[in-house]
Amino acid sequence: MSLFDLSGRSALVTGAGSGIGQRLALGLAEHGANLSILDLPVQRNGSDRTAEMVREAGRDAVVIEVDVTDRQSVASAVQSHVEHFGRLDVAVNCAGVNHSSPAEELDPSDWKRVIDVNLTGVFYCCQSEARAMFEAGGGSIVNIASMSASIVNRGLLQAHYNASKAGVKHLTSTLAMEWVARNVRVNSLSPGYIMTPMISGPEWAEKIRGFEDQTPMGRLGTPDDLVGPVVFLAADASAYMTGGDLLIEGGFTSW
Ligand code: NAP
Repeated sequence: MSLFDLSGRSALVTGAGSGIGQRLALGLAEHGANLSILDLPVQRNGSDRTAEMVREAGRDAVVIEVDVTDRQSVASAVQSHVEHFGRLDVAVNCAGVNHSSPAEELDPSDWKRVIDVNLTGVFYCCQSEARAMFEAGGGSIVNIASMSASIVNRGLLQAHYNASKAGVKHLTSTLAMEWVARNVRVNSLSPGYIMTPMISGPEWAEKIRGFEDQTPMGRLGTPDDLVGPVVFLAADASAYMTGGDLLIEGGFTSW
């Protein structure tokens, strides 16, 4: 049990007001961590709900508003976390956006927004988090990439999203090598299709039936399916793992 025990550690999760980030924040709390809940101001209700669930699980929680595309906002958020908890042990960078467009018509502003949030945002977060972790003597960073970092999703027109996630995967191994001697581990977690607000709405209903058919396990994942993997990457259970990518996709990429 102690390999997966996060008691006494403090963690932050970005995008924690919704979907996967909300469940991962609660999952880390269920395994002992105190939490900072980071998301956009527009997600305040969701963030407050996450904090409430973390407190119901018996852990301390603080909500911090952040825009991951703004380097100063990220630096202030990490500083607020350290001021509240005294140190940063675990960071899960989950904030992300999706968007669809045929590549030949993709508007530069949509390309930029997806890259800014999904890739540059993760880099800004890693920068500030690593500095705080150096102070603490080490830590574990988990970047939420996607199986779209490694495969092209059949039927989805999302060149910018796929490129951003491939960037996150390689950025992760690169930062892991830069920081390996300073005891900061950096890994990515790559989910397959997971039922969240990102893929809900009428335009997704038909596609989701296709995703189920394409997934060897015959179903979409849920945020619950990602709790074990993120706790593993955050905790001492993965002490000898850095620069890796953990695919959690119901077997999708083996077919
Ligand atoms: P979600 O429910 O939409 O959660 C993403 C959260 O990130 C939202 O609260 C979103 O706020 C927030 N966010 C967006 N831009 C931000 C910014 N600039 N600064 C701070 N926060 C920001 O989506 P999800 O499905 O849980 O996705 C979480 C992560 O998993 C993403 O990185 C996604 O790419 C990845 N992922 C998802 C799936 C899937 O099938 N769902 C599969 C593989 C990977 P707004 O809603 O206001 O934009």
